Amino acid sequence: MTATHVVDHIHDEPMSEVALRSVAIEALLAEKGLLTAGEVQRQVNLMDGRTPADGARVVARAWVDEGFKARLLADSRSALAEMGIEIPSETPHLTVVENTDDVHNMVVCTLCSCYPRMLLGRPPDWYKSLAYRARAVRDPRGVMAEFGAAPPADAEVRVLDSTADLRYLVLPRRPAGTEGMTEEELAGLVSRDSMIGVTDTLTP
Ligand code: FE
Repeated sequence: MTATHVVDHIHDEPMSEVALRSVAIEALLAEKGLLTAGEVQRQVNLMDGRTPADGARVVARAWVDEGFKARLLADSRSALAEMGIEIPSETPHLTVVENTDDVHNMVVCTLCSCYPRMLLGRPPDWYKSLAYRARAVRDPRGVMAEFGAAPPADAEVRVLDSTADLRYLVLPRRPAGTEGMTEEELAGLVSRDSMIGVTDTLTP
């Protein structure tokens, strides 16, 4: 936030402690010449431009192209670059994990709200809630049931804890009966929540 943003907030409502802290940190970084207001704004614009549709495109590509999927699972940054999705070098490492009939992955950030924003945009409120962060670890299948999802009973459920340095995106299972669908049609089946791992993809 810049000084202008502060003024906006003063007219609006009192700033929260977190917002004040972020303004103070940004001002300090600018003062030390480590970051310019322009750089901050560019990053904000970049993040605001990202939506779950970006992640869905990636999942659909992985479903139709085995080679791409292998590259995506091995090194997401270079695979995403093939699709024209640039992940700036300063952003945290993104690991893509594949759901199969045997393993179901579900993503949480137990500490705060780390999230693969580069592919999904801003996290939903429930993702940041204390309830989700606690219950995802204690009872992942119970949480999934509330989202209307049930991975195979004998599948191992892995709960992946995101950090400031490492983000996860789930590559959901491709639904049955989608053999004849185009990549674009397939992308339409991939929900945000299925890439967090709390649900499965939609079925056609
Ligand atoms: Fe976090």
